[in-house]
Order: sequence, then structure tokens, then C-alpha cells
Amino acid sequence: MTGSKTTGRCLCGDIHFETGAVPKGASVCHCSQCRRQSGHLWASAYVARAALKIFGPVTWFHATPGARRGFCPRCGSFLFWTAEDEDTISFSLGALDRPTGIKLEKHIFVADKGDYYDIADDLPRKP
Ligand SMILES: [Zn+2]
Repeated sequence: MTGSKTTGRCLCGDIHFETGAVPKGASVCHCSQCRRQSGHLWASAYVARAALKIFGPVTWFHATPGARRGFCPRCGSFLFWTAEDEDTISFSLGALDRPTGIKLEKHIFVADKGDYYDIADDLPRKP
């Protein structure tokens, strides 16, 4: 996908983002924080923070001291996650425009998954 751009936006369109970098680490997070914020599972991939351009009034929320979660204050879309001590930022795969050129690689935080569903694919799972 050399030279292609990855673009996405929130539900209402007040926030949009783009990157020319190749997204990495496409994953589905089962932790209780991501499930609470998204309604179920949060699928994301990451790029270098400097490689992601974000437009619009993102609200940042610290669920834990070392990381912040970005969402749209108007429509509530959960779009971004970044750790303060890392130079990458994750963005929501559900917010991307098609074609994404991305395939899920793994499940993460499965030890914290909900009890109301089963993981039904063969992707690697990390506790
Ligand atoms: Zn919005």
C-alpha cells in the first residue's frame, strides 16, 4: 500500500484524521476500559504520533494515569488511544474509510474479556 493514505472520521464528522504511514499492529482489545468506552470491543492499529494528522476538537480522557483516550465531544466516537511514554498513537479501525488495506492480526487483553461472548476466530490471543 505504498503511497496510499489512511483516512477516518467520527460519526458526526467534526473530527477526522489521516496518515500516510502504514498502520501496524491491527488488534481487537478486550479490556474492560475499551469495552466500556466502545460498547463492546475496540479494534485499532497504530502509527507514529508524528505521522497522524488529527483535525477537530478531540476530548482526551485519562482512564489510567499513563494513557489517554480521544473521543468526539459531539457524537461520542472513541477514536484514539495513546500512552504518554510511547511515541505511537492507536486509532479506531471502525472509523476508517474503505478500503482500509488492513487485516486484524490479534486479540489483546483477552484475560479481561467479557463473559457474554466467545472469540470465534483463530487469530493469536494475548492475555
Ligand atoms: Zn463526532
